[in-house]
Amino acid sequence: MTTETLKEISGCVHLHTTFSDGDCDYAKIIDAAGAAGLDYICVTDHNTLAGREAGFGGLRDNGVFVLIGYEHNDENNHNHYLAFGVDKTACGLTDPREYVDAIKRMGGIGFLAHPAEKRDHIASLPPYPWTRWDVEGFDGIEVWNQISDWMERLRGWQSLTRLLSPNKKLGDAPPELMERWDTLNRKRFVSAIGGVDAHSRRFKWGPFSCVVFPIDVELRGVRMHLFVKESEWGNASGTADALLSAMRDGRGFISNFSRGDAKGSKIIMTDKTGAVRYPGRREPNDSTHFPMKIRVELTDKAKIVLIRNGQRMQSATAASAEWEINENGVYRVEAYRVSGAWIYSNPFPVGEYPL
Ligand SMILES: [Zn+2]
Ligand SMILES: [Zn+2]
Repeated sequence: MTTETLKEISGCVHLHTTFSDGDCDYAKIIDAAGAAGLDYICVTDHNTLAGREAGFGGLRDNGVFVLIGYEHNDENNHNHYLAFGVDKTACGLTDPREYVDAIKRMGGIGFLAHPAEKRDHIASLPPYPWTRWDVEGFDGIEVWNQISDWMERLRGWQSLTRLLSPNKKLGDAPPELMERWDTLNRKRFVSAIGGVDAHSRRFKWGPFSCVVFPIDVELRGVRMHLFVKESEWGNASGTADALLSAMRDGRGFISNFSRGDAKGSKIIMTDKTGAVRYPGRREPNDSTHFPMKIRVELTDKAKIVLIRNGQRMQSATAASAEWEINENGVYRVEAYRVSGAWIYSNPFPVGEYPL
């Protein structure tokens, strides 16, 4: 439990630039991030930290903090892994167990990228799923990937509406992936992130071509809201560490901005002393004093769902909700609007593992 109020930062994770297969360069992405009101972006070009080496990391003039990691893949271009907090890549390692371990050994953190991809209807864009669930030691999972979901659902007549309003038509996080994530979280803390996988790529259909997802549209969809100590944010030395530890510890929630700006929402757990706990890994001094409460205050009305150990427990259609917690388990919150999923919180583990 903490009595300290944390600062909310919202940003976009998993962006590609011209240093790999993205069509936008750093200058354009950083400008777009500022215009979109983001506090930070996490760039992950394929198998390169060239952006970091070129000096694009850190706090930019427009107030956007740029964290530069990279996306690792195996020799079959499967098992994509988003690595952050490293100053060199582990390129050359092709076994996921080896690169997950290597990132950790170098002091970095890592997330399984778009692990549930399964599309088979676009020959030029095959799926890149995570296949090595025997590997342990990763810090988290990208449970919601904007471009991956968009491509999975680009079928038949639905394609047109998805081309016209890509983020509004975003589907829910893949249920089988959420089930796996919930199961893992009963053994140990596994953080969740939402990723954009921005490429701003030009798609071609015969003689026609267009950029379906220009960068300013890409940055107005899946966002990652994190809670960091106010004192650590915005100074030269502490900002990257604050961002990395909030991502590793799942200190926050994911939203789809096109269904409403969730910045300012609160999803917290309190105990009878009034101490506040944010979603995420338990801190060493977190205690369990029942009855506890999960309190949700959103920026707009939604169907708010409380989940315990992967099972839906309660729901309310409102802008706020409060539920009493009297038993151990892994709790988390989802919120839905008419058009689909809006918010996924990271879990609150209550009690000792296994839960
Ligand atoms: Zn990928
Ligand atoms: Zn990617």
